[in-house]
Amino acid sequence: MAVEEYWAPTALSAALAHLRGGDVTILAGGTDLMPQSHAGRVTLKHGLLNIQHVPELRGIERDGASVRIGALCTISELMRDPLIGTHFGILAEACDHFASDQLRNAATIGGNVCNASPAGDTLPPLLVLDAEVELASRPNGRVETRRVPLGEFFVGPGRTARLPSELLCALWVPVPPVGFVGRFFKFGTRPALDIAVIAIGIGGVRTGRSLTRARVAYGAVAPVPMRARKTEGALEGTALDAAASARIAAVARDEVRPIDDVRASAWYRRELVFNMTRRMLDDVAEA
Ligand SMILES: Cc1cc2nc3c(=O)[nH]c(=O)nc-3n(C[C@H](O)[C@H](O)[C@H](O)COP(=O)(O)OP(=O)(O)OC[C@H]3O[C@@H](n4cnc5c(N)ncnc54)[C@H](O)[C@@H]3O)c2cc1C
Repeated sequence: MAVEEYWAPTALSAALAHLRGGDVTILAGGTDLMPQSHAGRVTLKHGLLNIQHVPELRGIERDGASVRIGALCTISELMRDPLIGTHFGILAEACDHFASDQLRNAATIGGNVCNASPAGDTLPPLLVLDAEVELASRPNGRVETRRVPLGEFFVGPGRTARLPSELLCALWVPVPPVGFVGRFFKFGTRPALDIAVIAIGIGGVRTGRSLTRARVAYGAVAPVPMRARKTEGALEGTALDAAASARIAAVARDEVRPIDDVRASAWYRRELVFNMTRRMLDDVAEA
């Protein structure tokens, strides 16, 4: 069906009013939606809702023990922001591996999350950082919000727990404790504009050669971006030396669930997971 109505509201409540009917496509930066639509892989719905002029979806601000990142923040804005640089280096690192400058200037963090690609670059870091998504709707004329841990938001490739009547307004990311270290790794076959063959995020609070509150997340090795809970269990509190890093990386190799596709075989992805996890753990131990 062709788009029959187009809206560009300037307030959140007005945007949510348009979503109540359900038959609406949300447009943010358009870097994914537009190519997918032109290629015939996505069919735009009756209404097209451009959210670019909604001020409540913008800004990066400290709020208590967390930072609120507005859904419309672009990858370029994240890379420049001092709060992100100070507290969430692992996220800034992922943005530095994201596509090209042109894409980064338009692509939003909300779009990256709602796209729910297993290979989305910001997703392993956000999982490591225990991010939550803020969803808003307007069921009875009043704006209501709820928060969902990011790990529960992805329900399948390209599918999330967001209801059709909801808009993703922001990401809430707790400021990590003192001593937190985070690392991001992305492997793609071309240096620029490449979708990840695998991506890894590792974080935790370092004491000596071990991590507590260990978090390990992988991209492009399962139907959804995944927290690797068994790997985290093996990492938690373990003194990292070469043997321990190899043992933990082997747990990760067994835990991921990659598939064969045009970019790599499942076997190759598992070997990459093993080798790069081991290398990252060695690096964390020396930090
Ligand atoms: C050439 C190319 C290279 C790319 N390289 C990378 C890369 O290196 N790494 C990477 O991770 N991605 C990459 N992408 C994918 C894409 O750029 C990102 O996923 C981007 O973050 C999407 O954001 P957007 O604002 O453009 O979203 P849009 O294209 O506007 O929307 C994407 C989806 O999210 C929905 N949506 C957007 N915002 C909201 C919201 N606030 N609430 C509810 N739903 C919403 C839309 O309805 C749509 O379904 C690439 C794309 C292209 C075309």
